[in-house]
Amino acid sequence: MPMSSDFKNRLAPLLPQIVQTFGTPFHIYDETGIEQTCEAVTLAFEKIDGFKEYFAVKALPNPAIMALLKAKGFGFDCSSIPEITLARDIGSQATDIMFTSNNTSVQQFQSALDKDGCILNLDDISLISKLPKIPELICFRYNPGNKRTGNKIIGNPMEAKYGVTHDQLLDAYKRSMDLGVKRFGIHTMLASNELDYTYMVETADMLLAILGEIHGRLGIQFDFINIGGGLGIPYTPDTPKFDLTAMATGVTRSFDAFNKQNGWAPKLYMESGRFITGPHGALVTSVINHKKTYRNYVGVDASMSALMRPGMYEAYHHIHIHGKEDAPDLKRVDVVGALCENNDKFAIQRDLPATQEGDILVIHDTGAHGHAMGFNYNGHLRPKELLLKKNGSVELIRRAETMEDYFATLNFEPKTMGPA
Ligand SMILES: *Cc1c(COP(=O)(O)O)cnc(C)c1O
Repeated sequence: MPMSSDFKNRLAPLLPQIVQTFGTPFHIYDETGIEQTCEAVTLAFEKIDGFKEYFAVKALPNPAIMALLKAKGFGFDCSSIPEITLARDIGSQATDIMFTSNNTSVQQFQSALDKDGCILNLDDISLISKLPKIPELICFRYNPGNKRTGNKIIGNPMEAKYGVTHDQLLDAYKRSMDLGVKRFGIHTMLASNELDYTYMVETADMLLAILGEIHGRLGIQFDFINIGGGLGIPYTPDTPKFDLTAMATGVTRSFDAFNKQNGWAPKLYMESGRFITGPHGALVTSVINHKKTYRNYVGVDASMSALMRPGMYEAYHHIHIHGKEDAPDLKRVDVVGALCENNDKFAIQRDLPATQEGDILVIHDTGAHGHAMGFNYNGHLRPKELLLKKNGSVELIRRAETMEDYFATLNFEPKTMGPA
């Protein structure tokens, strides 16, 4: 079931007053649900020593949410300096930040190593010699190429720009050792919105096998393996949930076997985004127009600047109309925003109860890769973000963009060159 019924039930009685107080559109996140998922993940992997989840910041880069995650013991997977800055600003330590970048500039490495530094996850063998200083710990991102099929959403690893090949791995670690690196990790990220837990267990098995291989050749006793993110959530009502317990049981078994065989085991890191916050967010928007032409259109006051996934990936997001969940007369409609872009549609040919202007639509599962992916094309501004707290209060955790924000980059010192 998309969007937990608990969140829906918590939100429903408050929604009219929230709409009145803050105005639509907005994304709203559920503190209770996010914390429950954090606790479930931690509990599932508790038998693996040193398990740690590094939340993928790109999914929901809001400091208020990140502070909640940090309080639950999570670290942060960052792929840009602004993301690292967000993590540092809420008090994350070096070991709480993993810098998984690609096509990285020397300047970015410099900033990443500034202050306390962070864990560097290198995307290519050529980058070791470009680092401004040699850190004590280094991780490489592994791309198995045709040794493994990627999941259907992320595609064929042979065509992915990420990571070091199997043949390069040994050399990568050898060179790092020669440069004085003392501790090592290995990372991979092969899945996106994967609902089959066995795929994640196989990913852990693959990395453990490589550790055995490298240990045999170079004697490295790895600090950790990071199996990436990509755990799926059910966006449609008939999709079963990802079986976290079964995944954890499988991975724990693999770790136990590795430990028995080698007399040591690495720590386990993960970096999920979607699974942690996805179902615990919703985009709330008001009906402002109805139009009947070749199709029936319901026009709402949010547009794809607030949620790109339907327009970009044809992704399904479940929608319910507040107070009309059980209305019997369904109508087939497209739910549209205001962009001059025909894929600015939150739903296409969806059967929804008949609506009236002023009705409140709740678009489910926008807690990850929702607001964060928004953009300003066509002069559309991104909406505010709210947090429904455990005590039932609602807090503004990001204001809506304004025209001043939109025009801010037109404020600059004049600069001209030539003519020569
Ligand atoms: C996007 C991303 C993630 C998070 O993916 P989810 O599907 O949200 O779990 C994790 N790691 C890396 C390197 C990513 O690029």
